[in-house]
Amino acid sequence: MPRYVIDPPPIVALPVAGTDSLFPVRRVYCIGRNYAAHAVEMGHDPDREPPFFFQKNPDNLDPSGEFPYPPQTADVHHEIEMLIALGSGGTNISPDDALSHVFGYAVCFDMTRRDLQGQAKKMGRPWEIGKAFERSAPTGPLHPANVTGYPHHGRVQLLVNGELRQEGDLNQMIWKVPEMISYLSNYFALAAGDVILSGTPAGVGPVVNGDRMEASIEGIGELTVTVA
Ligand code: MN
Repeated sequence: MPRYVIDPPPIVALPVAGTDSLFPVRRVYCIGRNYAAHAVEMGHDPDREPPFFFQKNPDNLDPSGEFPYPPQTADVHHEIEMLIALGSGGTNISPDDALSHVFGYAVCFDMTRRDLQGQAKKMGRPWEIGKAFERSAPTGPLHPANVTGYPHHGRVQLLVNGELRQEGDLNQMIWKVPEMISYLSNYFALAAGDVILSGTPAGVGPVVNGDRMEASIEGIGELTVTVA
């Protein structure tokens, strides 16, 4: 039996609410501009163009409840999102079949170094430097879909230091969960352990050290994260 030449990296895993079980994460896909009002605030057309995706790294997910202010930026933004965790995968999944692959849902953040993302956009470069940095996706516990059901609608809300910053409803997503899964599966082989971030409603903005972000998605759960 060959041995690893270095210690294998730890498996990234999310706690499953109400259990002592863990959900191991394989890949992280994130959809861009999935709420019309957010597309408009970022200077884009809210029309239903084909969706686009970028990726974060599995170990960017962080259930600790703390978000360390990252280096090389002066403009880190909050984006509250719903995380969709797949319990199985495949290719060319039809929208009608897609929900059968969902293990559960969680509240999470797509924290963004907006200044670096902005430079990358302007220069036609990839977004990772703005999106896929250490601990850039604070994530709450996973709530199994057999408990929550499929959230057709539900208020999405983010308070920062008690002040309402972002609000929307899951029913405002331009591309719904079954469509996102189906679309991605036409381009990638999805598998158990993959997670998808849903996109964010309007109201994104900066955080500073000491801020307390209280996120909630009706029917899914809550997540409080401190900027440290
Ligand atoms: Mn986002």
